[in-house]
Amino acid sequence: MAKRTVQTSESRARAPQVRFEGSILGEPPRDCDACPRLYDFIAGHRETQPDWYNAPVRSFGDPAGALLIVGLAPGLRGANRTGRPFTGDFAGDLLYATLDSFGFSSGQYDGRPDDGLALINCMITNAVRCVPPQNKPTPAEIRTCQPFLTNVMRQMPNLRAILVLGRVAHDTMLRTLGLRLAQYPFSHGGLHGVTCEGRSLTIFDSYHCSRYNTNTGVLTEKMFADVFRAIRKAL
Ligand code: SF4
Repeated sequence: MAKRTVQTSESRARAPQVRFEGSILGEPPRDCDACPRLYDFIAGHRETQPDWYNAPVRSFGDPAGALLIVGLAPGLRGANRTGRPFTGDFAGDLLYATLDSFGFSSGQYDGRPDDGLALINCMITNAVRCVPPQNKPTPAEIRTCQPFLTNVMRQMPNLRAILVLGRVAHDTMLRTLGLRLAQYPFSHGGLHGVTCEGRSLTIFDSYHCSRYNTNTGVLTEKMFADVFRAIRKAL
């Protein structure tokens, strides 16, 4: 298994803030190693799956858009394999089909980053950009990657609505906005009006569109569509 370059604790702690050079629009560089566990996990997959993307997954969509969709982290055989958020696994099938239904995309989604799909008036990103083992990032990894989420939001001058997929994305967004978690509890279908850096934003909560949640009935296609109906109404 390939090993990461050893860094001092000081340089590691600074990494997300200072390593924008060489990345696109403040997105993480391909070799970001600010989270050693995630770096090593990806390095292992570079060896066993050399045809996969295996790197921090950059945001996808329209920076001029009004809607930002925030997931948890890349799926191992989804975004980590293909290199585009929510692309190539079940969660993407449901998300992109719903985006199409509500006019947030053009072109045909085909589970490949070169399928020609374009997003309209929205961006998709993840709270954590590197795939975590068992799809579970640690609190420290979420904190370390947070500057990249902040950066995406700052690059969206027309941002008005944020859809958070799941409780972890919800909590991460509140922390990113400097808001108290107790004041804005997560609930599917819930929405929260907030102000941040002079902007009025509405946070929309949804259960994550994972296969597990849909297989267990936690989230149905109708429940997911209802959230997008509320977003469409607000925009
Ligand atoms: S999760 Fe984010 S901060 Fe951590 S290594 Fe990946 S890109 Fe860097």
